[in-house]
Amino acid sequence: MNEIQKEFLEILADVRAHLEYQRALGVKSIEIGSQDIQPPTAQPAAAVYTKKQTVAAPAAPPVVKEPVKTVAAAQAGQPATLESIREEIGDCTRCKLHKGRNSIVFGEGDPKATILFVGEGPGFEEDQQGRPFVGAAGQLLTDIIEKGMKIKRAEVYICNIVKCRPPNNRNPEPDEVETCIVFVKKQINVIKPKVIVTLGNVPTQNLLGTKQGITRMRGVWQEYEGIPVMPTFHPSYLLRSPGEKKHVWEDIKLVMAKLGMAVPEKK
Ligand code: SF4
Repeated sequence: MNEIQKEFLEILADVRAHLEYQRALGVKSIEIGSQDIQPPTAQPAAAVYTKKQTVAAPAAPPVVKEPVKTVAAAQAGQPATLESIREEIGDCTRCKLHKGRNSIVFGEGDPKATILFVGEGPGFEEDQQGRPFVGAAGQLLTDIIEKGMKIKRAEVYICNIVKCRPPNNRNPEPDEVETCIVFVKKQINVIKPKVIVTLGNVPTQNLLGTKQGITRMRGVWQEYEGIPVMPTFHPSYLLRSPGEKKHVWEDIKLVMAKLGMAVPEKK
């Protein structure tokens, strides 16, 4: 028997002696815990461990979704703009004209225009294109501006008292005008033109709060909220009554003179 065998027998004797000692104390079995022989496992990075306690790592802060800001919300408390007015109109159903419209004709031109032309409402072409004064009457108005006044149409602003086409091109009814006129008034407030030209009875009477007809009103300076207003005939009337063009030209010359523009001798 070599030294290693001797040492092994001594260890066995020690173990037996220890076990007999435990049995004498009443111990009937000795458990070996499985955790004692398990290899250590990797710890989750998101947890903090103490001796016998696992403490959850601090929770990530909740994700707060930014509310979607509309133009109106973003500009709440800010001065109105043409964009915010258009957003306010939205897909408007405030009056019965919405039922037959194809598009809302808001208006177009220079937002800082010196001259604002206001008509009564969109016609067929305007409703189709979503732009004011683009039909035959619109071409005549464009000629008045570009050939008569010698300025570009894009330099003025053009809109209507109601933004949706009345059926069969009838005049807008009082309840429709009353509902929609608030928007043209807001447009005027934003644009702040030096002169407003009202085209025909509907914008003239409703903007100025008068029952007088356009034949008596045209060519005579009026005022809306401190802004000079020149009433004149609607271009669609001129298409039916071309002999009246000379009166419109007289009215337009008054506008040009008021603004210090060079007035051509002849149209
Ligand atoms: S006419 Fe004016 S108030 Fe009436 S539905 Fe059109 S945008 Fe609205």
